[in-house]
Amino acid sequence: KVKRQGKNGHLFYTDDLDAQLLDHIELESDLRKAIERDELVVYYQPQFHSEYNRMIGVEALVRWNHPTRGLLSPGLFIPLAEETGLIYDLGTWVLREACRQMKRWHDEGGPLIPVSVNLSSHQFHQSNLVTYIRNILQETGLAPEYLELEITESMMMDPAVSIHILEELNKLGTRISLDDFGTGYSSLSYLKKFPIHKLKIDRSFITDISQNRNDRAIVSTIIAMAQNLKLDVIAEGIETKDQLDILTENDCKKIQGYYFASPLSAADVETMFIMPSREAQHLE
Ligand code: C2E
Ligand code: MG
Ligand code: MG
Ligand code: MG
Repeated sequence: KVKRQGKNGHLFYTDDLDAQLLDHIELESDLRKAIERDELVVYYQPQFHSEYNRMIGVEALVRWNHPTRGLLSPGLFIPLAEETGLIYDLGTWVLREACRQMKRWHDEGGPLIPVSVNLSSHQFHQSNLVTYIRNILQETGLAPEYLELEITESMMMDPAVSIHILEELNKLGTRISLDDFGTGYSSLSYLKKFPIHKLKIDRSFITDISQNRNDRAIVSTIIAMAQNLKLDVIAEGIETKDQLDILTENDCKKIQGYYFASPLSAADVETMFIMPSREAQHLE
């Protein structure tokens, strides 16, 4: 609760709603400065191929290193960034940073893997999206096939518009992944029309997959559908060996989750995964 000075000079506590509002306003003004002050950080969560036991990609996940509140997760400030329009600057910053980092890893002899970057709905519908992504790729030198954009079903409310944007991104040469798949309500008939490359099975179907037959049925159906539609498929939120085994049995080999690795700072990804892979290449 927030302490405030009343008219009569007494301190009183405002109710929770007021406190939340003040907090919100304060966070908003902080967020405006966060980019200039270099307080945003990109973490990278490795993705693995369970059979080859090899890192096959990383997802860029933004964090905010707030001066007094500590490291904040995106769930706390992405919605705020969207409400206030700050998402454009924030999103551009994340894209540039992620491309720059991946290009550097490539140049340093790391594995030639792509980086996935989440797009918000506002960004996806931004009129100059393709132009500015092209510019970022040129500026950083990352080849377009090493950038994967994660979008969600909920952004595709207007299929004709979405297909147009996706086609432009395809021409540019980036890859597109449908994140949180299964939680939206996109119709299957559109799924075959959308020029996308990958389905990312949402964590909510994975959490109870060992105990819940329905979740297991949904997941195996998504995997089979992806295969039939010639789409790549990856599961997110794998935390246990049991979950991994069920996915492997169902022929989903691409995995992201705490069982393999949490989102890590660039430095940690480097010491844990990039450097060992470079040494392995030397030995081969
Ligand atoms: P998402 O894209 O679905 O990302 C996956 C989230 O699941 C991440 O949370 C990740 O840390 C978490 N996660 C990964 N493996 C596990 C696991 O095994 N167990 C559990 N319980 N969680 C796991 P995070 O980093 O808090 O990000 C939350 C969401 O915020 C993301 O969901 C994405 O929608 C959004 N987000 C993150 N970074 C950005 C960004 O740069 N731009 C935009 N527009 N959105 C972002
Ligand atoms: Mg994602
Ligand atoms: Mg997701
Ligand atoms: Mg999710």
